[in-house]
Amino acid sequence: MSTPPRVLVVEDEIIISEILRDYLIADGFAADVINTGEGVVDFIRDEHPDLVLLDLMLPEVDGVRICREVRAFSDVPIIMVTAKIDEADCLIGLGVGADDYVCKPVKPKEVVARVKAILRRTAKLDFHAQTPQSALQIDDSECRARWHQQIIDLTPIEFRLLALFAKKIDRVYSRDTLMSAIYLDGRYVSDRTVDSHVKNLRRKLIAVTQLDNPIRPVYGMGYKLELNEKLNEK
Ligand code: CA
Repeated sequence: MSTPPRVLVVEDEIIISEILRDYLIADGFAADVINTGEGVVDFIRDEHPDLVLLDLMLPEVDGVRICREVRAFSDVPIIMVTAKIDEADCLIGLGVGADDYVCKPVKPKEVVARVKAILRRTAKLDFHAQTPQSALQIDDSECRARWHQQIIDLTPIEFRLLALFAKKIDRVYSRDTLMSAIYLDGRYVSDRTVDSHVKNLRRKLIAVTQLDNPIRPVYGMGYKLELNEKLNEK
């Protein structure tokens, strides 16, 4: 399975940076966030992101300077995020080195669409594999689950639950099915015990995926795993 494209979001407005990160992750990207101009050039040099979303107005070091410095050593696609369209036209014209720009107020869906367009244009990335589903990887041999390469810290029971859910995303599993998957010795436990493991697993998944409800109860039936639901509006 190919690695998701990594996007670096450089944006000093925390809320905007979080929204962009969430939308990118929901679309199958990995995303890093830096909230100041400082350290951005070093990060790009060390971490080699696949694309940079770069706010023009930043504290410490502004976007234009960062762009110029990065261009000295890297062709990474850069999308400038700017408040004014004439400013953006000017930047492109001045040969600062940005590949594209988006204007504030930022529309996250538009930004994600631009990111995809630029990656298709500039890179050899196989974009078809980058679905939210492929972000979750279950490794049965190690009993480990990862979200965009990040290990999800689970108990053995939670791992077995997630492994079952992940076999068929969006399928509803009854509590009985879940119970037999998590207790290999066939012991009987109450529905409430199953519910409490599901609750803990959901909490851990939310923390890692930023999704708002990755394990959804289905009334009278059980639970299902959903990975591409709408994100929390922040
Ligand atoms: Ca700014």
